[in-house]
Amino acid sequence: MFDKYERFDMKKPPEYPKLRLLSYGIALIDKFTHKIKINKKGIKGIKPPYLLLANHNAFMDIKVMTLATFPHPKNYVIAIDGYLNREKLIRMIGGICKRKFTTDLQLIKQLEYSVAHKRVPVIFPEARYSLCGTTAILPPSLGRLCKHLNIPVVVLMMHGHHINSPFWNLHDRKVKGLQAEIKCIATKRELAELSVDEINERIHDAFQYDEYKWQKDNNIHITYKGRAEGLHKVLYQCPHCKTEYRMDSKGTQLFCKACGHTWEYSELGELHAIEGETYFSHIPDWYEWERDNVRKEVEAGTYHFEGEVHTSMMPKDKFIPIGNGYLIHDMNGFKLTGEFEGEKYEVVLPAGMHYGVHIEYEYLGKYGDCVDLNTLDNTYYVYPHGEDFAVTKFSLACEEIFKYLHNKK
Ligand SMILES: [Zn+2]
Repeated sequence: MFDKYERFDMKKPPEYPKLRLLSYGIALIDKFTHKIKINKKGIKGIKPPYLLLANHNAFMDIKVMTLATFPHPKNYVIAIDGYLNREKLIRMIGGICKRKFTTDLQLIKQLEYSVAHKRVPVIFPEARYSLCGTTAILPPSLGRLCKHLNIPVVVLMMHGHHINSPFWNLHDRKVKGLQAEIKCIATKRELAELSVDEINERIHDAFQYDEYKWQKDNNIHITYKGRAEGLHKVLYQCPHCKTEYRMDSKGTQLFCKACGHTWEYSELGELHAIEGETYFSHIPDWYEWERDNVRKEVEAGTYHFEGEVHTSMMPKDKFIPIGNGYLIHDMNGFKLTGEFEGEKYEVVLPAGMHYGVHIEYEYLGKYGDCVDLNTLDNTYYVYPHGEDFAVTKFSLACEEIFKYLHNKK
């Protein structure tokens, strides 16, 4: 029933990136204000085309990447959200459109085109900003893609961007001393000798990061008075009373509305209970504990969410509201049903097909938390009602169900 809407043209080849000098100029300002240091290792003599893989924590990533690779012409794989109301501009800077977490053969063609034109295809394989400053799940298809493109693989690992502007509260903390390292992890000759698994292993090794550890190691103090605000979006379950969805935050504190347990969030990014046990002082440890709890539900076959939602979709580069619907997420995957203009619709994302799902906190500052459901030709932004849910849990559950189903095979 949504067929009448115009779709994004995924087949149009990626453009030669214009505005490179302008982007470089803008990036230079950040280089000085954030005192960015870039360490270039083993990339001497590497010229386009090469495949650039980078970790993804904040918008700052694009600027640091510009600094690290200027003047090489790049084609960025950018999710459809990036094109909102500005398709022309994103095409002009060399964007390749992708709907997140879909298996899209058209993407391969676009990357091949970029390589054939001696450019640098850029992929953020985590496909989203990391939720809590640690490596997000990587697509298992990456090693095969590297072998197929048959060009050197370069990794750009950036540090401090999550600490400066975490996904759960984007406020710019004005961190100084951001660091990045760019290095070649596989030359063309090595690609020919390595197996797909070995390439994946190299990528996994290069992508290990923990921004809260980096913060402590580099003694970065965040004095921002609202620094804990939003942290409850990631840390949605209380380790003291185990209640879900009742965590909240204000100023420099994180607390549970069910039992009152309260943590102070230090300038160095550590949590300390005001009274009683701290449980987790390191944010990623708390997050992984939540993942363990979700995994137990998945293994027991009891993981289940259902509830009313409101939804919009983005077939091209604009939101189209499609009213209220009903979302079910369980061992079978996501199922969204609703009615629009008098007709019923159903969107199904089978669990075994999607290794991850994209979520947003307070999307664009006005819509609340949502989960994005992507098919090959449409994206649905789904906002559950009430407070008995956490989109973070959808994300964890999606990953754990996928792993569970594939391990079983
Ligand atoms: Zn509690």
